[in-house]
Amino acid sequence: MDTPVKNEFFGHWSQIPYGLWKWKNFTPKEIACKGNGSIVVDFDAMDALQKFREIVKVPFTPNSAYRSISYNKRVGGAPKSQHVRGRAFDIPITDKLSREAIHEAAAKAGFTGIGDYNTFVHIDIGPKRYWDLRE
Ligand SMILES: [Zn+2]
Repeated sequence: MDTPVKNEFFGHWSQIPYGLWKWKNFTPKEIACKGNGSIVVDFDAMDALQKFREIVKVPFTPNSAYRSISYNKRVGGAPKSQHVRGRAFDIPITDKLSREAIHEAAAKAGFTGIGDYNTFVHIDIGPKRYWDLRE
């Protein structure tokens, strides 16, 4: 068997070749950097996000997914944030998607880093850890 490609960088999400994107509930634009449109497609992270989406059965767009290093700096992200590797997503809490539901589905989908914020939950596939930055 071929070794699967684990991640790929594109200077802009529109450069992703046809057929590479296989996560039906998300678009490349939604996952790309909001600063400059660049994107790291991390296959494991995207597989986990799609699995998460199928567990919660609620449509959503991550507040933040991939971040370029400069954009991550601009928004005050941690320098080693999993966002700059395309391995983190900030999931908005809504009437239809509670904090508890996000936590439960994230664990089932294989997310290992979880951070609570007032209006969203950060989930990533980095080292196992938890933080609470609610005010
Ligand atoms: Zn985050």
